[in-house]
Amino acid sequence: MKKEEVFSAYKEYILPTYTKVPVIFTKGKGSRLWDIQNKEYLDFFPGWGVGNLGHCHPKVISAVRDQIGKLIFIPNNYYHLPQAKLAKEIAYWTYPSKVFFCNSGAEANEGAIKLSRKFGKGRYEIITFENSFHGRTLAALAATGQKKYQNGFEPLPEGFKTVKFNDIEAVKNAVSDKTVAIMLELIQGEGGINVASKEFVSGLKKICEEKNLLLIVDEVQTGIGRTGKLFCYQHYGIIPDIMTLAKALGGGLPIGMMIVKKEISDTLGPGMHASTFGGGPVICRAALAVLKAIQEEKLLSNTQKMGDYLFTKLMELKNKYPLIKEVRGMGLMFGIELSVEGKSIVEKCFERGLLINCTHDKVLRVMPALNTTKKEIDKAIWVLENVISNS
Ligand SMILES: *Cc1c(COP(=O)(O)O)cnc(C)c1O
Repeated sequence: MKKEEVFSAYKEYILPTYTKVPVIFTKGKGSRLWDIQNKEYLDFFPGWGVGNLGHCHPKVISAVRDQIGKLIFIPNNYYHLPQAKLAKEIAYWTYPSKVFFCNSGAEANEGAIKLSRKFGKGRYEIITFENSFHGRTLAALAATGQKKYQNGFEPLPEGFKTVKFNDIEAVKNAVSDKTVAIMLELIQGEGGINVASKEFVSGLKKICEEKNLLLIVDEVQTGIGRTGKLFCYQHYGIIPDIMTLAKALGGGLPIGMMIVKKEISDTLGPGMHASTFGGGPVICRAALAVLKAIQEEKLLSNTQKMGDYLFTKLMELKNKYPLIKEVRGMGLMFGIELSVEGKSIVEKCFERGLLINCTHDKVLRVMPALNTTKKEIDKAIWVLENVISNS
Protein backbone atom coordinates (compact mmCIF):
# COMPACT_ATOMS: atom_id res chain seq x y z
CA MET A 1 0.00 0.00 0.00
CA LYS A 2 1.16 3.51 -0.80
CA LYS A 3 0.95 6.33 1.73
CA GLU A 4 -2.17 7.89 0.23
CA GLU A 5 -3.89 4.49 0.05
CA VAL A 6 -3.28 3.90 3.75
CA PHE A 7 -4.73 7.30 4.67
CA SER A 8 -7.78 6.75 2.49
CA ALA A 9 -8.38 3.22 3.89
CA TYR A 10 -8.42 4.69 7.39
CA LYS A 11 -10.77 7.40 6.26
CA GLU A 12 -13.10 4.99 4.55
CA TYR A 13 -13.10 2.01 6.91
CA ILE A 14 -12.07 3.03 10.44
CA LEU A 15 -14.20 4.98 12.91
CA PRO A 16 -12.69 8.42 13.34
CA THR A 17 -12.35 8.22 17.15
CA TYR A 18 -8.74 9.40 17.22
CA THR A 19 -7.17 12.72 16.35
CA LYS A 20 -4.41 11.58 14.04
CA VAL A 21 -0.96 12.71 13.01
CA PRO A 22 -0.35 12.06 9.30
CA VAL A 23 2.53 9.63 9.57
CA ILE A 24 2.81 5.89 8.90
CA PHE A 25 5.30 4.11 11.09
CA THR A 26 6.85 0.90 9.88
CA LYS A 27 9.71 0.11 12.26
CA GLY A 28 10.90 0.81 15.80
CA LYS A 29 13.91 0.09 17.95
CA GLY A 30 14.50 1.49 21.42
CA SER A 31 13.66 5.18 21.36
CA ARG A 32 13.80 5.38 17.57
CA LEU A 33 11.01 5.03 15.04
CA TRP A 34 11.04 5.06 11.26
CA ASP A 35 8.20 6.07 8.99
CA ILE A 36 7.24 4.68 5.60
CA GLN A 37 9.70 7.04 3.90
CA ASN A 38 12.43 5.89 6.26
CA LYS A 39 12.55 9.20 8.10
CA GLU A 40 13.86 8.67 11.63
CA TYR A 41 12.12 9.99 14.76
CA LEU A 42 13.17 10.19 18.40
CA ASP A 43 10.23 8.90 20.43
CA PHE A 44 9.93 10.69 23.76
CA PHE A 45 6.36 9.54 24.31
CA PRO A 46 6.50 5.88 23.31
CA GLY A 47 3.06 4.34 23.04
CA TRP A 48 1.35 6.81 25.38
CA GLY A 49 3.12 5.18 28.30
CA VAL A 50 3.24 1.67 26.87
CA GLY A 51 6.85 1.79 25.72
CA ASN A 52 8.80 1.82 28.98
CA LEU A 53 11.39 -0.44 27.34
CA GLY A 54 11.22 1.46 24.06
CA HIS A 55 10.16 -0.24 20.85
CA CYS A 56 10.73 -3.92 20.12
CA HIS A 57 12.84 -4.82 23.12
CA PRO A 58 14.88 -7.97 22.27
CA LYS A 59 13.94 -9.77 25.51
CA VAL A 60 10.24 -9.27 24.79
CA ILE A 61 10.67 -10.38 21.19
CA SER A 62 12.44 -13.61 22.08
CA ALA A 63 10.01 -14.50 24.90
CA VAL A 64 7.02 -13.95 22.62
CA ARG A 65 8.62 -15.86 19.73
CA ASP A 66 9.38 -18.79 21.97
CA GLN A 67 5.88 -18.93 23.51
CA ILE A 68 3.94 -18.35 20.32
CA GLY A 69 5.47 -21.49 18.81
CA LYS A 70 4.44 -23.58 21.83
CA LEU A 71 0.99 -22.50 22.93
CA ILE A 72 -0.79 -19.29 21.93
CA PHE A 73 -3.96 -19.49 23.96
CA ILE A 74 -5.54 -21.50 26.71
CA PRO A 75 -8.76 -20.41 28.42
CA ASN A 76 -8.93 -19.50 32.07
CA ASN A 77 -10.70 -22.68 33.15
CA TYR A 78 -7.36 -24.47 32.66
CA TYR A 79 -3.88 -23.90 34.05
CA HIS A 80 -0.71 -22.80 32.26
CA LEU A 81 2.82 -21.97 33.39
CA PRO A 82 3.36 -18.33 32.32
CA GLN A 83 0.32 -17.07 34.26
CA ALA A 84 1.46 -18.78 37.46
CA LYS A 85 4.97 -17.36 37.08
CA LEU A 86 3.79 -13.82 36.36
CA ALA A 87 1.33 -13.70 39.28
CA LYS A 88 4.04 -14.94 41.64
CA GLU A 89 6.52 -12.41 40.28
CA ILE A 90 4.06 -9.52 40.76
CA ALA A 91 3.39 -10.53 44.37
CA TYR A 92 7.16 -10.65 44.92
CA TRP A 93 7.66 -7.08 43.66
CA THR A 94 4.58 -5.65 45.40
CA TYR A 95 2.93 -6.99 48.55
CA PRO A 96 1.06 -10.14 49.61
CA SER A 97 -1.61 -10.18 46.93
CA LYS A 98 -3.60 -12.05 44.34
CA VAL A 99 -4.14 -10.78 40.81
CA PHE A 100 -6.86 -10.76 38.17
CA PHE A 101 -5.75 -10.72 34.54
CA CYS A 102 -7.46 -8.69 31.83
CA ASN A 103 -6.52 -6.74 28.69
CA SER A 104 -6.50 -3.02 29.32
CA GLY A 105 -6.41 -0.27 31.89
CA ALA A 106 -10.12 0.43 31.70
CA GLU A 107 -10.89 -3.23 32.19
CA ALA A 108 -8.59 -3.42 35.21
CA ASN A 109 -10.38 -0.43 36.73
CA GLU A 110 -13.79 -1.95 36.01
CA GLY A 111 -12.60 -4.98 37.96
CA ALA A 112 -11.57 -2.76 40.86
CA ILE A 113 -14.98 -1.04 40.84
CA LYS A 114 -16.84 -4.37 40.79
CA LEU A 115 -14.69 -5.83 43.55
CA SER A 116 -15.29 -2.73 45.70
CA ARG A 117 -19.05 -3.05 45.32
CA LYS A 118 -18.95 -6.71 46.36
CA PHE A 119 -16.71 -5.80 49.27
CA GLY A 120 -19.10 -3.03 50.30
CA LYS A 121 -22.14 -5.29 50.74
CA GLY A 122 -24.47 -2.39 49.99
CA ARG A 123 -21.93 0.41 50.28
CA TYR A 124 -21.09 1.37 46.71
CA GLU A 125 -19.88 4.96 46.48
CA ILE A 126 -16.36 5.56 45.19
CA ILE A 127 -14.61 8.88 45.68
CA THR A 128 -12.53 9.95 42.68
CA PHE A 129 -10.73 13.17 41.73
CA GLU A 130 -11.01 16.14 39.43
CA ASN A 131 -8.79 15.78 36.36
CA SER A 132 -8.37 12.06 36.88
CA PHE A 133 -8.45 9.55 34.03
CA HIS A 134 -9.46 5.92 34.49
CA GLY A 135 -10.53 4.77 31.01
CA ARG A 136 -13.35 4.89 28.49
CA THR A 137 -15.72 2.07 29.46
CA LEU A 138 -18.81 3.33 31.25
CA ALA A 139 -17.88 2.79 34.89
CA ALA A 140 -14.26 3.83 34.35
CA LEU A 141 -15.59 6.89 32.55
CA ALA A 142 -17.92 7.67 35.44
CA ALA A 143 -14.86 7.48 37.72
CA THR A 144 -12.96 9.86 35.43
CA GLY A 145 -13.17 13.40 36.78
CA GLN A 146 -13.20 15.20 33.42
CA LYS A 147 -16.54 16.23 31.92
CA LYS A 148 -15.12 16.47 28.38
CA TYR A 149 -14.81 12.69 28.17
CA GLN A 150 -18.29 12.07 29.60
CA ASN A 151 -20.40 14.53 27.59
CA GLY A 152 -23.00 12.79 25.47
CA PHE A 153 -22.63 9.40 27.12
CA GLU A 154 -25.01 9.93 30.02
CA PRO A 155 -26.54 8.31 31.95
CA LEU A 156 -23.30 7.02 33.45
CA PRO A 157 -23.31 4.40 36.20
CA GLU A 158 -24.10 5.93 39.57
CA GLY A 159 -22.03 5.93 42.69
CA PHE A 160 -19.04 8.14 41.93
CA LYS A 161 -18.24 11.37 43.78
CA THR A 162 -15.58 13.56 42.27
CA VAL A 163 -13.66 15.88 44.59
CA LYS A 164 -10.66 18.20 44.38
CA PHE A 165 -7.25 16.50 44.06
CA ASN A 166 -4.75 16.99 46.90
CA ASP A 167 -7.51 18.33 49.17
CA ILE A 168 -7.95 16.04 52.15
CA GLU A 169 -10.80 18.11 53.64
CA ALA A 170 -12.79 17.67 50.43
CA VAL A 171 -12.37 13.91 50.76
CA LYS A 172 -13.43 13.92 54.42
CA ASN A 173 -16.55 15.88 53.53
CA ALA A 174 -17.42 13.50 50.70
CA VAL A 175 -17.27 10.29 52.75
CA SER A 176 -20.72 9.00 53.67
CA ASP A 177 -22.12 5.74 55.04
CA LYS A 178 -22.42 4.63 51.41
CA THR A 179 -18.73 5.13 50.62
CA VAL A 180 -16.71 2.02 49.93
CA ALA A 181 -13.51 3.17 48.21
CA ILE A 182 -11.24 6.02 47.16
CA MET A 183 -9.68 5.73 43.72
CA LEU A 184 -6.78 7.82 42.43
CA GLU A 185 -3.72 8.15 40.25
CA LEU A 186 -0.72 9.17 42.34
CA ILE A 187 0.40 11.24 39.39
CA GLN A 188 -2.49 12.26 37.17
CA GLY A 189 -1.28 11.52 33.66
CA GLU A 190 -3.97 12.67 31.22
CA GLY A 191 -4.97 15.35 33.74
CA GLY A 192 -1.70 17.24 33.29
CA ILE A 193 0.97 15.46 35.39
CA ASN A 194 -0.37 16.49 38.80
CA VAL A 195 1.59 14.85 41.60
CA ALA A 196 -0.23 13.76 44.76
CA SER A 197 1.42 15.15 47.88
CA LYS A 198 2.76 12.76 50.52
CA GLU A 199 0.51 14.24 53.22
CA PHE A 200 -2.52 13.85 50.99
CA VAL A 201 -1.84 10.18 50.29
CA SER A 202 -1.12 9.31 53.91
CA GLY A 203 -4.28 11.22 54.83
CA LEU A 204 -6.26 9.10 52.37
CA LYS A 205 -4.77 5.92 53.81
CA LYS A 206 -5.82 7.04 57.30
CA ILE A 207 -9.39 7.77 56.21
CA CYS A 208 -9.55 4.36 54.51
CA GLU A 209 -8.41 2.61 57.68
CA GLU A 210 -10.83 4.52 59.91
CA LYS A 211 -13.86 4.03 57.68
CA ASN A 212 -13.07 0.59 56.27
CA LEU A 213 -12.70 1.92 52.71
CA LEU A 214 -10.56 0.45 49.96
CA LEU A 215 -7.73 2.54 48.55
CA ILE A 216 -7.57 1.89 44.80
CA VAL A 217 -4.41 3.15 43.14
CA ASP A 218 -4.55 3.37 39.35
CA GLU A 219 -0.96 2.80 38.21
CA VAL A 220 -1.84 2.17 34.59
CA GLN A 221 0.46 5.05 33.59
CA THR A 222 2.78 5.40 36.61
CA GLY A 223 3.56 1.69 37.02
CA ILE A 224 6.39 -0.52 35.70
CA GLY A 225 9.28 1.74 36.59
CA ARG A 226 8.01 4.98 35.09
CA THR A 227 8.62 7.05 38.23
CA GLY A 228 11.98 5.51 39.17
CA LYS A 229 10.51 2.84 41.42
CA LEU A 230 8.77 -0.22 40.02
CA PHE A 231 5.45 1.20 41.26
CA CYS A 232 4.69 4.78 42.18
CA TYR A 233 3.00 3.90 45.49
CA GLN A 234 6.46 2.84 46.72
CA HIS A 235 7.41 6.53 46.92
CA TYR A 236 4.59 7.15 49.37
CA GLY A 237 5.12 4.62 52.16
CA ILE A 238 1.65 3.16 51.76
CA ILE A 239 0.24 -0.08 50.41
CA PRO A 240 -2.87 0.10 48.24
CA ASP A 241 -5.75 -2.30 48.76
CA ILE A 242 -6.07 -2.58 45.00
CA MET A 243 -3.62 -1.51 42.32
CA THR A 244 -4.42 -1.53 38.62
CA LEU A 245 -1.82 -1.90 35.86
CA ALA A 246 -1.81 -2.05 32.08
CA LYS A 247 0.11 0.06 29.54
CA ALA A 248 3.82 -0.78 29.98
CA LEU A 249 3.37 -4.19 31.60
CA GLY A 250 3.17 -6.12 28.32
CA GLY A 251 6.12 -4.50 26.55
CA GLY A 252 3.79 -3.37 23.75
CA LEU A 253 1.25 -6.19 23.90
CA PRO A 254 -2.16 -5.71 25.52
CA ILE A 255 -2.49 -6.65 29.16
CA GLY A 256 -4.32 -5.34 32.20
CA MET A 257 -4.04 -6.44 35.78
CA MET A 258 -5.77 -5.84 39.08
CA ILE A 259 -3.61 -6.57 42.11
CA VAL A 260 -5.64 -7.20 45.25
CA LYS A 261 -4.26 -7.25 48.78
CA LYS A 262 -4.35 -10.74 50.30
CA GLU A 263 -6.83 -9.85 53.09
CA ILE A 264 -9.60 -8.97 50.63
CA SER A 265 -8.63 -11.30 47.81
CA ASP A 266 -11.53 -13.69 48.39
CA THR A 267 -14.10 -10.97 47.70
CA LEU A 268 -14.59 -12.22 44.14
CA GLY A 269 -15.24 -15.94 43.83
CA PRO A 270 -15.77 -18.35 40.93
CA GLY A 271 -18.09 -17.02 38.23
CA MET A 272 -18.25 -13.46 39.56
CA HIS A 273 -15.86 -11.83 37.09
CA ALA A 274 -14.01 -12.97 33.98
CA SER A 275 -12.09 -12.02 30.85
CA THR A 276 -11.64 -14.48 28.00
CA PHE A 277 -8.20 -13.33 26.86
CA GLY A 278 -6.97 -12.24 30.31
CA GLY A 279 -3.52 -13.54 31.16
CA GLY A 280 -2.94 -15.70 28.09
CA PRO A 281 0.42 -17.48 27.76
CA VAL A 282 1.96 -15.13 25.19
CA ILE A 283 1.20 -11.90 27.02
CA CYS A 284 2.35 -13.36 30.34
CA ARG A 285 5.68 -14.32 28.81
CA ALA A 286 5.99 -10.79 27.44
CA ALA A 287 5.29 -9.27 30.86
CA LEU A 288 7.79 -11.59 32.54
CA ALA A 289 10.38 -10.44 29.99
CA VAL A 290 9.56 -6.79 30.80
CA LEU A 291 10.09 -7.33 34.54
CA LYS A 292 13.30 -9.23 33.87
CA ALA A 293 14.65 -6.51 31.59
CA ILE A 294 13.94 -3.86 34.23
CA GLN A 295 15.98 -5.81 36.79
CA GLU A 296 18.81 -7.05 34.58
CA GLU A 297 19.34 -3.76 32.79
CA LYS A 298 19.07 -1.74 36.02
CA LEU A 299 16.40 0.44 34.48
CA LEU A 300 15.10 1.82 37.76
CA SER A 301 18.42 3.45 38.56
CA ASN A 302 18.73 4.61 34.95
CA THR A 303 15.26 6.16 35.28
CA GLN A 304 16.32 8.04 38.39
CA LYS A 305 19.59 9.21 36.83
CA MET A 306 18.18 10.16 33.44
CA GLY A 307 15.14 11.65 35.15
CA ASP A 308 17.35 13.95 37.21
CA TYR A 309 19.28 14.89 34.10
CA LEU A 310 16.17 15.58 32.04
CA PHE A 311 14.63 17.58 34.89
CA THR A 312 17.75 19.75 35.15
CA LYS A 313 17.69 20.37 31.40
CA LEU A 314 13.98 21.23 31.44
CA MET A 315 14.53 23.63 34.35
CA GLU A 316 17.27 25.34 32.34
CA LEU A 317 14.73 25.87 29.57
CA LYS A 318 12.20 27.13 32.07
CA ASN A 319 14.67 29.69 33.38
CA LYS A 320 15.36 30.89 29.84
CA TYR A 321 11.86 30.98 28.35
CA PRO A 322 8.96 32.62 30.25
CA LEU A 323 6.62 30.56 28.05
CA ILE A 324 7.34 27.67 30.44
CA LYS A 325 5.50 28.18 33.70
CA GLU A 326 6.31 24.99 35.54
CA VAL A 327 8.06 21.64 35.18
CA ARG A 328 6.74 18.80 37.32
CA GLY A 329 6.87 15.04 37.57
CA MET A 330 8.86 12.16 38.91
CA GLY A 331 11.31 9.65 37.45
CA LEU A 332 10.92 9.92 33.68
CA MET A 333 7.36 11.26 33.73
CA PHE A 334 7.29 15.02 33.15
CA GLY A 335 4.74 17.70 32.46
CA ILE A 336 5.88 21.08 31.17
CA GLU A 337 3.16 23.62 31.82
CA LEU A 338 3.05 26.42 29.27
CA SER A 339 1.36 29.80 29.28
CA VAL A 340 -0.01 28.99 25.81
CA GLU A 341 -1.58 25.97 24.10
CA GLY A 342 0.98 23.26 23.37
CA LYS A 343 -0.47 21.83 20.16
CA SER A 344 1.68 23.79 17.73
CA ILE A 345 4.84 23.06 19.73
CA VAL A 346 4.10 19.32 19.52
CA GLU A 347 3.56 19.68 15.76
CA LYS A 348 6.79 21.59 15.25
CA CYS A 349 8.73 19.02 17.29
CA PHE A 350 7.17 16.31 15.14
CA GLU A 351 8.33 18.04 11.95
CA ARG A 352 11.84 18.06 13.40
CA GLY A 353 11.62 14.33 14.23
CA LEU A 354 10.81 14.48 17.95
CA LEU A 355 7.66 12.84 19.29
CA ILE A 356 6.20 14.34 22.47
CA ASN A 357 2.63 14.86 23.69
CA CYS A 358 0.41 17.62 24.95
CA THR A 359 -2.30 16.99 27.50
CA HIS A 360 -4.81 19.27 29.20
CA ASP A 361 -4.22 21.82 26.39
CA LYS A 362 -1.23 23.52 27.96
CA VAL A 363 0.91 20.74 29.40
CA LEU A 364 3.61 19.17 27.25
CA ARG A 365 4.22 15.60 28.33
CA VAL A 366 7.53 13.79 27.92
CA MET A 367 7.90 10.18 29.02
CA PRO A 368 10.92 8.66 27.27
CA ALA A 369 11.73 4.96 27.51
CA LEU A 370 13.39 3.99 30.79
CA ASN A 371 16.53 2.93 28.89
CA THR A 372 16.99 6.35 27.33
CA THR A 373 20.44 7.94 27.28
CA LYS A 374 22.00 11.35 27.92
CA LYS A 375 22.65 11.62 24.21
CA GLU A 376 18.96 11.12 23.39
CA ILE A 377 17.92 13.58 26.08
CA ASP A 378 20.38 16.18 24.73
CA LYS A 379 18.94 15.74 21.27
CA ALA A 380 15.35 16.06 22.47
CA ILE A 381 16.18 19.17 24.50
CA TRP A 382 17.98 20.67 21.51
CA VAL A 383 14.89 20.24 19.33
CA LEU A 384 12.53 21.44 22.05
CA GLU A 385 14.62 24.56 22.69
CA ASN A 386 14.80 25.22 18.98
CA VAL A 387 11.01 25.06 18.75
CA ILE A 388 10.24 26.99 21.94
CA SER A 389 12.69 29.79 21.17
CA ASN A 390 10.80 30.32 17.89
CA SER A 391 7.32 30.17 19.43
C1 LIG B 1 -4.40 4.97 29.84
C2 LIG B 1 -5.00 4.96 31.19
C3 LIG B 1 -6.14 4.21 31.50
C4 LIG B 1 -6.91 3.45 30.44
O1 LIG B 1 -6.17 2.40 29.91
P1 LIG B 1 -6.71 1.67 28.57
O2 LIG B 1 -5.75 0.52 28.43
O3 LIG B 1 -6.64 2.65 27.46
O4 LIG B 1 -8.09 1.22 28.86
C5 LIG B 1 -6.58 4.17 32.80
N1 LIG B 1 -5.94 4.86 33.77
C6 LIG B 1 -4.85 5.60 33.53
C7 LIG B 1 -4.18 6.31 34.64
C8 LIG B 1 -4.34 5.69 32.23
O5 LIG B 1 -3.27 6.45 31.98
